[in-house]
Amino acid sequence: MEVSPEPALTAGREIAKLSFGKAAMVEMSKLVSLCKRRGFVFPSSEIYGGLSSCWDFGPLGVELKNNIKRAWWQKMVQEREDVVGLDSSILMHTQTWVASGHLDSFADPLVECKSCHLRWRADEVKDGRCPSCGGELTEPRLFNLMFKTFMGPVENEAAVVYLRPETAQGMFVNFQNVLRASRKKLPFGIAQIGKAFRNEITPGNFIFRTREFEQMELEYFVKPGEDEKWFQYWLEERLNWYVELGIKRENLRLREHLGKELAHYAKACYDIEYRFPMGWAELEGIANRTDFDLTQHSQHSGENLSYFDEETGERFIPYVIEPSAGVERSALAFLTEAYDEEVDEKGEVRVVLRLHSKLAPVKVAVLPLSRNEKLVPPAREIAAELRKDFMVQYDDAQSIGRRYRRQDEIGTPFCVTIDFQSLEDNQVTIRERDSMKQIRVPIPELKNTLSAKLEGEDFSVLPPGGSYWLGF
Ligand code: ATP
Repeated sequence: MEVSPEPALTAGREIAKLSFGKAAMVEMSKLVSLCKRRGFVFPSSEIYGGLSSCWDFGPLGVELKNNIKRAWWQKMVQEREDVVGLDSSILMHTQTWVASGHLDSFADPLVECKSCHLRWRADEVKDGRCPSCGGELTEPRLFNLMFKTFMGPVENEAAVVYLRPETAQGMFVNFQNVLRASRKKLPFGIAQIGKAFRNEITPGNFIFRTREFEQMELEYFVKPGEDEKWFQYWLEERLNWYVELGIKRENLRLREHLGKELAHYAKACYDIEYRFPMGWAELEGIANRTDFDLTQHSQHSGENLSYFDEETGERFIPYVIEPSAGVERSALAFLTEAYDEEVDEKGEVRVVLRLHSKLAPVKVAVLPLSRNEKLVPPAREIAAELRKDFMVQYDDAQSIGRRYRRQDEIGTPFCVTIDFQSLEDNQVTIRERDSMKQIRVPIPELKNTLSAKLEGEDFSVLPPGGSYWLGF
């Protein structure tokens, strides 16, 4: 094992293993402040005082969101033979919302429970408390959850269009188009990621409930009778997706919708709930929507949205299982899960986001030991080369220890340090975020080594010519 001649390189190792661990759940205020300070999430239109419940995703936030969407798409579309993608428009024919029931069911005076967020028709509530949990209710409002706007130059009733409150309907109205174009057979799915808008009565909890958000939805069409089997299948698949990306199973639970909570179109519905800083709350909904949507659209459009089964010679309207997740809610869950603090012997706190490497906004930081004129050019060259494959940050400001901390705080899995010895032996050190261990690798091996580690290879596996560093 080699010993570093550079004391500064040891900075990241001062941390004692006195981790707070996840015993105490991170407070929302800490997450909000980190997100603002480091460029994950900013209040929308902040210079004008902000716009209620709207948020902007900064340089790191947009990477995190893109990585979440990419991970979802990879699992739900790319790796599957039975699912194809779609990107339908946000504005849809108004009849869509008549058929789906959105226009009718949101036109009543509604009250919303401030605690469980169930909405009730005001005339159905007897004693002024939430019929489900007994919570306090908001004032009644004639409420249509959908945002309304006008298409074209004339602002009259005929020109009214709505911003979609879910991406799902785009997939139902395109059922025949996709079926014909992709020549899929049941069971098969259509997946979509896109913006949805809801004029929520009680938005809040940071990015948990907002009025503009992104959904990741799958409509999985199956034969009637096989729906319950597929419902179970998707429950497990979706739970596993979160666990594979670093969420502990004990921080997830399933909650069944019962009685009035079950939507009019659904035969069964479960929420995957996560233990958010403010408590357990819905992360994703999985519903058995039966043949409701395709039947409704068949009736309202006059188009036949049935399926012909060549094997049995039967024609029927497929059932649909829908796992529906929110991008921002997932981001909040992944951030909550990843946030950790460790204290060193001096009582200093290391904040570290233990994000899965697939989700980390920056994969690699390139850090010359100092701004020395001999170190900066090769460090910049290495950064430029790595940028072709990974999101890279180059940083040469302040001590190496501080720079490590900055990267830990945004969840960067690996830091590459170029020191004076690198100029002689053409090697650099790689430091792992979670263990703070370091290995030394030849520069020609750097890219492959980082790729392998980002894919999950154990950090102790060395490339040819590599060595352990600093009492690894
Ligand atoms: P909630 O009751 O928590 O508002 P919901 O039951 O109305 O959610 P669904 O209609 O099942 O939500 O939507 C599916 C997913 O879309 C949710 O699990 C969530 O991840 C996301 N989502 C829904 N509404 C919002 C919102 N207002 N802000 C952010 N994400 C949302």
